Amino acid sequence: MELFFSISQSNPVSHYINVKLKIQNVVDKKLILLLPRWRPGRYELGHFSKNIQSFYAYDSKGRHLVVTKSNTHSWEIFNDSLDKEIFVEYNYYANEYNAGACYADENILYFNPVHLLMKPSYSDTIHKFHIHINVPESYKIITSLSIKNNTIESTDYDELVDSPIVATPYVKSFSYEVDEYTFYVHTIDIHEKYIDEEKTKNDFKKFTEQILKFWGSAPFKEYHFIIHLLPYSYYHGVEHLKNTVIVLGPNTQIMSKLYNELLGVASHELFHAWNIKTIRPKQMFPYNYYTENYSELGFIYEGFTTYYGDKLLWQSGVFNDDEFFNCINERLNRHFINYGKFSQSLLNSSIDTWVDGYANHAPHKKVSIYDEGCLLAMMMDLYIILKTKKKKSLRDVCLKLYDDQINNNEPYTLKSFIKYFLEFTKDERDIVFFGNTLLFPNDYIPLFEKIIEIFGLYIEYKESENWWERYFGFKASEQQGKYSVNHILPESPAYYALSLNDEILAVNSITSKDAFTDKNINKIDTINLTIQRFHKIINVEIKALKNKTFYQKLSLRLKDKLSTIEKDLFSHFKKM
Ligand SMILES: [Zn+2]
Repeated sequence: MELFFSISQSNPVSHYINVKLKIQNVVDKKLILLLPRWRPGRYELGHFSKNIQSFYAYDSKGRHLVVTKSNTHSWEIFNDSLDKEIFVEYNYYANEYNAGACYADENILYFNPVHLLMKPSYSDTIHKFHIHINVPESYKIITSLSIKNNTIESTDYDELVDSPIVATPYVKSFSYEVDEYTFYVHTIDIHEKYIDEEKTKNDFKKFTEQILKFWGSAPFKEYHFIIHLLPYSYYHGVEHLKNTVIVLGPNTQIMSKLYNELLGVASHELFHAWNIKTIRPKQMFPYNYYTENYSELGFIYEGFTTYYGDKLLWQSGVFNDDEFFNCINERLNRHFINYGKFSQSLLNSSIDTWVDGYANHAPHKKVSIYDEGCLLAMMMDLYIILKTKKKKSLRDVCLKLYDDQINNNEPYTLKSFIKYFLEFTKDERDIVFFGNTLLFPNDYIPLFEKIIEIFGLYIEYKESENWWERYFGFKASEQQGKYSVNHILPESPAYYALSLNDEILAVNSITSKDAFTDKNINKIDTINLTIQRFHKIINVEIKALKNKTFYQKLSLRLKDKLSTIEKDLFSHFKKM
């Protein structure tokens, strides 16, 4: 079957993308078109069909065909007269400007084909796809697919939906080479605030070299960084095999405050070209776009990527020690205040991204495949270095998985991963290591501290300067002069007195504005809060605990004076 898509915008300010589709060589009386329900890179259902406003089908004589839906993501077209050619028209509401969705207006046409392009349900037939992009002549089209006269041709639906397309006049591009590979960096910004080419190229080149050195070979010839800069605060990146889309804001800070974030997300997404786009857990090989693809192995595809995205920036010299430690600190601090570590294991939390995505619907429900996954990766890395007397590291386990995948077409499983880990550490007791971190809910910090100590590292704990956090165990956010409770620690005094979203009107009869800036409340061990809850004003009393404080800030530190062994181990950790 051959599919000819024509993509256009009949009314750009409406944010609708118009899709016309001609299907040739139809042989069935009932043709079913499917739209994916999720996109690889985000392990929860996306229900892209919610953006499709209208859908019509016609035969070759222009007569309407009956279309029925039996579920949310498939359209059944009744072709009773067995017409060989069917025409379809639908539109897509593209008003979600992030790295994985679609956005279209009078300045840009940007879509992730996984949201937009339907596919016939016959999975055993190879289809041919032609995608024509109708845009003004001043537009430049950015994509990692080969494109000729605004038309893309492909027989590979997986590659097609892995290849975002951006068309706009507001783009600036440059490229650089590492070994035999070419890397393109495209910046898109309608306010024409692009990135500093020379500085960015220099740093991108350094971490790219490091990532290529890590893996030894690449699964692409060309790679595209597609970077959207927005005028407001934003942070998002999505990986693909031959490209990545990154959305950052505010655009005015891209070369200052946001620059390390740009480097961090770019390195992370490039590492993904191997870890998940090439090396895949068995449950996602191949991807099934129409149902949940449960895998307990998120700690490998997201956690290891988070760890190495930052570690390779450090090893390449783009990040200094402090900048790398700050990346780990972010994960440590999130782990420290997420009591989901006592509710659900890392393996089970990976399954649950399909229920409530990347947030916790119920407070302290699960851990994060990114945060805990990254901490676990660092522990495993250090542990293998120790156990193999500096001969191996976690990289060697990753290379085993890479080898299995590219040479034997063999995706990994928990079993194969543990097998390789034990092959290096050579100690069956090490299974306890996994037991404590992967299989059971657990606080990672005691084990983390025990391992890093051998490398001359330690965690510094600093008390919070905010009295409400330090003594009473809750966090509050301020918006337009209103203070609301937005985080509560179980086991803290606040846990039994406050609810999330309580608005705090006064503290000990002092207005919130004054109380939250008053350092003297530090000396008081009981506070009386006037709060608004459920449209009612009430008073609650909270008593601080003796000898227990909350929300300390954790920082990874290198000892001032290292022993010879510590110095040697730390330099190996950095090098390997
Ligand atoms: Zn990622």
